Amino acid sequence: MSTPAKVTLGSPVTALYGIGPEAGKKLAKLEISTVFDLLTFIPRRYNDWSDISRIDMCEEGKDISFLGTVTSAPVKKGFKKQSPVSFYVSDGTGRIELSYFNAPYIMDKFMVGDKIFVHGTVTYFGTHAQIVNPFCEKASSTDELKLVRPVYHLTAGITSNMINKWAGTALKLVKDQLPDVIPPSLKERENLCGVYEAYQYVHFPDSIEQAAEGRRRIAYEELILLGIGMKYFMATGGPDEVAPVVVPPQGKLSAEAASRWKTVIGNLGFKLTGDQKKALADIQQDLMLSKPMNRLVQGDVGSGKTAVAILSMAMTAIMGKQSVLLAPTSVLAKQHYDSACALLKDSGVNVALLLGKTKASLKKEIKEQLREGEASVIIGTHAVLTDDVSFQDLSLVIADEQHRFGVKQREKLLISRDGSDGINSVHNLVMTATPIPRTLAMVIYGDMATSVIREKPAGRKEIKTHFLPYTEGDDIYNVLIAKLRKGEQAYIVCPRIDDDSEDVAPDEYYFDDLFGLEEGAPSAVSVKSMKKRLDDHGISAKYETAVLYGSMKETQKLEVMERFLSGEIKVLISTTVIEVGVNNPNATMMMIMNAERFGLSTLHQLRGRIGRGDKQSYCVLCSDNKTERALERMKLMCECSDGFELAGKDLELRGPGDFFGTRQHGIPTLRAANLFTDAPLAKTACDEVNKVFEQGGKDATDLMDNIGAMFRLRFADKMGTL
Ligand code: ADP
Ligand code: MG
Repeated sequence: MSTPAKVTLGSPVTALYGIGPEAGKKLAKLEISTVFDLLTFIPRRYNDWSDISRIDMCEEGKDISFLGTVTSAPVKKGFKKQSPVSFYVSDGTGRIELSYFNAPYIMDKFMVGDKIFVHGTVTYFGTHAQIVNPFCEKASSTDELKLVRPVYHLTAGITSNMINKWAGTALKLVKDQLPDVIPPSLKERENLCGVYEAYQYVHFPDSIEQAAEGRRRIAYEELILLGIGMKYFMATGGPDEVAPVVVPPQGKLSAEAASRWKTVIGNLGFKLTGDQKKALADIQQDLMLSKPMNRLVQGDVGSGKTAVAILSMAMTAIMGKQSVLLAPTSVLAKQHYDSACALLKDSGVNVALLLGKTKASLKKEIKEQLREGEASVIIGTHAVLTDDVSFQDLSLVIADEQHRFGVKQREKLLISRDGSDGINSVHNLVMTATPIPRTLAMVIYGDMATSVIREKPAGRKEIKTHFLPYTEGDDIYNVLIAKLRKGEQAYIVCPRIDDDSEDVAPDEYYFDDLFGLEEGAPSAVSVKSMKKRLDDHGISAKYETAVLYGSMKETQKLEVMERFLSGEIKVLISTTVIEVGVNNPNATMMMIMNAERFGLSTLHQLRGRIGRGDKQSYCVLCSDNKTERALERMKLMCECSDGFELAGKDLELRGPGDFFGTRQHGIPTLRAANLFTDAPLAKTACDEVNKVFEQGGKDATDLMDNIGAMFRLRFADKMGTL
């Protein structure tokens, strides 16, 4: 018999006892693929059951914890499959019935006389008190029990108990393999617990305070990994790296170049806003130097970042050099390609498009063009462009909407380029609509320069946002038809694909928080059911309607998108795949179903798909959810149209109590640290690490090794899936 392979932090979770391929797939949905992922999957909150009460203190609807004795054996009440299993428990002050649905194993689990601990919510039928599906464990005192129970983010088929149990198994196995990335000086000064304790505390705390202590240590770990890891293990620029000088110093253009540039500007069809001009000037300045540019262009949705990106590429092309624009989806790449072709018309610049679905023979031809320098403006999806592409004279790499992928792609692109001087680099530009605070950008991107586009193009009408307190009804169709009659187009966004599928992109924060659920929320409107409703309502007969979602075939997606952009399809029913970048100025209506399931920044991104032309646009948020928090967010969306302001509000609403969650658009998913509020800690922590590095010696190399190891596990290997 062979001995089982040793489980390490990098082992797949399926290497753990009890996690089969099915569970593995489900965990992958939660972004848990390795043992280390499981350990760093920190509970989003805790239930504190340590307030032990008595049965005679039961109150309808209230949670209760008590110790008692089983007084009747579990029996099935009724003959149906769904009939519950019930038994009675008493604690001397009273007697209460415990009922379990879908839990036949309870029959054999408890016997009369067993001492048990119970936690659950009390319900009354007349005067008869009962608890449905309580937590129950054999125990005669609370000493042996963990009464602070972690609650994790979940997906269908996975419970908090499962994750907790698995985390325990994992922790035992890798106990001695956890690299410590916290320098002793920092540990002492900030009074941090040990690395093993930290993980023990977050998954199996004795108290809420202890959980917080563990979390604090892990937050420091994450911040160090980001801050140091990005710099040392993903370095895209060092002091000795040089990039090609693209624009001649002093900006002197030849007459020929100047005339080509004039053609491009003439093709624009509008005047650049002041902020666009400023951003372009910043970029031009950077391209005059051999120091690699490292610039972030930040601008709210619809502010015209794409024009800036393509103009930078035009500039580079006219100077005889190549540039690449990386788009997160092929739909977006195709759209950029069309814009680039229009903008570069008659300017003598060749534009190339490279997508995953591009035929092999054509791909080969295009790659040849890139290698030979025949095409100088290249647009594609990151997956394709990092394959095995080489360039003749690549000088500029632009990542659009960087939040869908990470540094890693650009890194690969640099490695794959020809010109084997070794230290040659390229200029880097990142376009984002995420309002990243400066302190944070420093942590994630190092010394990145920023250009901000705040001004919106002239003539834009403010989008009017309305709230409808339902997701079904004639009003919805009437509002829609009113727009369609005018020849305008509409998006309808739904949180899931079909009625059997899970939500595609629920913003976990609100999702969990609003339903307080572990098991399933009331079901949301799906893309397919919405399509059917429009069909049944006779709308599809009059106006072409179509669906779009991520798992459709690439070619199909592109076709639908093309037909929507050309105006043939009037109503596009989709998931959040259209959230990023899509530009159809004739689309003036956006309906978002179950709007409460999305976070403010997602809603804002979605809304940014309309209001791109000079017509009045409307955003309609539909939601049956009447909780105060949901309503508050809907109100904010109706009142506020500024992305920066909304991002701030988003944080405020999440509140300081919610320090466990960090799912923020555009930023690597952190699990313990809150990137917005903890960013200042990052600097202190990284300074401390750098001090150790400066002192050198074994301490420094050990720390470096540990950080490298953990960084790879935690971020580097995941950059592609951000
Ligand atoms: P985003 O910043 O969201 O990427 P886009 O670059 O897609 O925005 O621009 C949104 C729309 O505004 C596009 O249709 C684009 O052609 C148009 N646009 C960009 N800049 C201007 C401008 N200065 N004046 C008028 N329209 C503009
Ligand atoms: Mg864009």
